[in-house]
Amino acid sequence: MKKHDWLKSVLKGLHHYFVIFFLVAFVITCATALFVSILSETLQVTLTEENISTAAKITFLNVALLSLIFTILDRVRRRLTVEGPVKRITEAAEAIVRGDFLVRVKPQSRFGTDDTFNRIIDCFNRMAEELGGVETLRTDFIANVSHEMKTPLAVMQNYGTLLQTPGLCEEKRLEYAKGVTEGARRMADMMTNILKLNRLENQKIYPQETEFDLGEQLCECLLQFESQWEEGDIRLETDIAEGVRVKADSELLSHVWNNLFSNAFKFTPTGGLVRVSLTAGAHHAVVAVTDSGIGMTPEVGAHIFEKFYQGDPSRASRGNGLGLALVKRVVDILGGEIGVESAPGKGSTFTVKIRRM
Ligand code: ADP
Repeated sequence: MKKHDWLKSVLKGLHHYFVIFFLVAFVITCATALFVSILSETLQVTLTEENISTAAKITFLNVALLSLIFTILDRVRRRLTVEGPVKRITEAAEAIVRGDFLVRVKPQSRFGTDDTFNRIIDCFNRMAEELGGVETLRTDFIANVSHEMKTPLAVMQNYGTLLQTPGLCEEKRLEYAKGVTEGARRMADMMTNILKLNRLENQKIYPQETEFDLGEQLCECLLQFESQWEEGDIRLETDIAEGVRVKADSELLSHVWNNLFSNAFKFTPTGGLVRVSLTAGAHHAVVAVTDSGIGMTPEVGAHIFEKFYQGDPSRASRGNGLGLALVKRVVDILGGEIGVESAPGKGSTFTVKIRRM
């Protein structure tokens, strides 16, 4: 704190004491002056006990009157500068308790007040804004979850109804049963992702660091997608540096690779290409997942790490928009970085940089 700031704050603190001091001094001076003037008038006549007593009474009445006037003035001052803002803050706090997060308190006019109330009001308004934001996120989250659940539920309901049709041939029965299973799988996937994200966001899990070979982990994760690249006739290229050991939470990291690979295969049409590379420096390892798929516009790219965001509604049936939110959260927890380069129709490259040790 600078020297003149310190002096300013001390003077500000003393300001009230100065006001009271000058008021009391003013009253005493008035009383003394009045007493002396009454006495000097009577001195020209005779200074009897009765005259002194009358002067004292008049002085007392004047002091009482002055004190009353100052008490009333002080009351009015308190009402305007203390009780007014306290009442407004209390009313706003009660509104927040009732769930109205839009309420704001108007700052005090600076006349005759110190800054304390304005600082409280400023903090209060910021708190209301933050609470409003959290509430919006919460309600948006519930709305999104409900919306996402409705589709698989409706699908399952339809297939369930169809399954009840009498005399159904074996082929149709299998088709409808598959529809029900698929709907249940989508819901289960979504619930798993929501739970994972929830655990990650509430910081209930702390990274369990172990040392492992990152290249091996990437290969293991890739193998799980074998059926997808074979079905889609997708060419897979890998350029994975050997012996890149990292110290990190391997389970958390595997979520990152699984989601990035799953998207790369999902958004790449038949006959396309997916490329995975791993390079490493002394302190960092960099994994790049490139695909020759549909790519993204800059507008889509700006939102992909948000919960429930899906850039391509036609493929919405194959995801729930939580994958990249989860990826981002994990990368943040591990202190890494994630970036994406993409162009519509040309494909995308997701790059993840993590600390090695
Ligand atoms: P989901 O894949 O379930 O839709 P994600 O959170 O994994 O959800 O991805 C969010 C959105 O980001 C996707 O809906 C898609 O629009 C876009 N996206 C992600 N990866 C790719 C990719 N490799 N190519 C094109 N778009 C992608």
